[in-house]
Amino acid sequence: MPSEPINAEPDRSGRTFPSTPDRNGRRRLLLQCAAGSLVPLWAGAASAQQSGNAITLPSISAPTEAPEKLPPPADGPSRRVGFAIVGLGHLTLERLMPAFGQSKHCKPVALVSGDRDKALKLARQHDIREDAVYDYRSFDRIAQNPEIEVVYIVLPNSMHAEYTVRAARAGKHVLCEKPMAMSASECQQMIDACRTAGRKLMVAYRSQYEPMNRAIRKMVVDKQLGTLKEFISTNSQNQGDPNQWRLKKALAGGGALPDIGLYCLNAARFLSGEEPTEVMAWTDSTPGDVRFREVEENVHFMLRFPSGFRATCHASYGAHKSQMLRLMGSDGWAELDPGYAYEGNRMRYARKEGDRVVTSEPSIPQKDQFALEMDHMAECVRTDRTPHTPGEEGLQDQRIMEAIYASARANGKAMALAQPSSPLRGPEPTSNG
Ligand code: NAD
Repeated sequence: MPSEPINAEPDRSGRTFPSTPDRNGRRRLLLQCAAGSLVPLWAGAASAQQSGNAITLPSISAPTEAPEKLPPPADGPSRRVGFAIVGLGHLTLERLMPAFGQSKHCKPVALVSGDRDKALKLARQHDIREDAVYDYRSFDRIAQNPEIEVVYIVLPNSMHAEYTVRAARAGKHVLCEKPMAMSASECQQMIDACRTAGRKLMVAYRSQYEPMNRAIRKMVVDKQLGTLKEFISTNSQNQGDPNQWRLKKALAGGGALPDIGLYCLNAARFLSGEEPTEVMAWTDSTPGDVRFREVEENVHFMLRFPSGFRATCHASYGAHKSQMLRLMGSDGWAELDPGYAYEGNRMRYARKEGDRVVTSEPSIPQKDQFALEMDHMAECVRTDRTPHTPGEEGLQDQRIMEAIYASARANGKAMALAQPSSPLRGPEPTSNG
């Protein structure tokens, strides 16, 4: 309990929340958090828990009512982790900048772009200082900007390695979009550069932070599906513009596999918690389709895992959007359809209950996946933790994708995969990030 006196202050909706005076006599508004305790609004989740200032209010609901789930408190502007965003294309403009509004621990403080007019417009929209707008040549000057703690790389795949290494050398932590890079050796260079600089490296596998994917992973850990048997998944989207970088091998590294097939591969691994021992794969493209002169339209691959669990996956750049996964165990199944969407994922599962098999669609509140993953990165920086999806996680996917392409070149010949010698993931994200 706090030693300071507690008063009541009305909020904008007329509700009253207690407040306490700080050393300067300012009144601190206290915010009720999920556990029903009260913490200073700008103090940040972690420090609030540690401050010992938690206050419990008596419940006003009958014991038969479910407790209200309130969001954990957000950090005030001065405590947030500053992000520089590199590459101002679709993902940045349409998803990441809006996600800062949902984030609890992050703020955009710098932009990197080859198009200064666009960057300045975006900077004005988000109160980013003009002298914190860089281009690719002046990028290394981010070293002199202490507001930047994390560099988020949102460039075409072929540029991920170079900008990760340069950001690490500038003393910054790195959050890098998927796929991590173009080859396993590039991934290793990125890991080494961040390790040498003593900086964190996280790959932006948003699904691993998304509540429904996490709910299925929990069902697996709690053995609610029994012994895992099979995973099937597809991720497809019909590509338009034949001139876009995604269809150029030198910029993208491949076609449907590294861009969208990667979601199926990563889900098979993180939902099962196993690493594959063998892969068989096939790629093909519609003859004469100008979009697929350099990269594959379709990829099919099968993975075998040590327990006998198998995964059958498909990705296509020519089929209409379809993003589903189903995990089958001895005692039940769970599916997401869609499962890789930015929003609107739907989960169903079936299990025997009593003497009947019941199919359920649990109600799991949606959250902005990009805000969740950025908040996780910020928490890792603040609490000196290894990210849940560090560089090693991206490197493992890259190794498997290389084996997928090798198998496809050999018309589906089985390729053996070595088991990793050390853990690939850091601790699970907390409710704060
Ligand atoms: P985009 O084409 O919309 O944006 C790319 C940006 O990079 C543009 O602003 C472009 O001007 C800039 N750029 C700099 N040098 C370039 C060059 N040589 N060629 C082309 N563009 C260049 O792409 P995007 O959809 O924003 O994708 C960026 C990255 O984010 C990719 O690695 C992609 O895989 C990843 N991504 C991830 C998700 C996700 O859900 N996690 C979704 C979309 C994209």
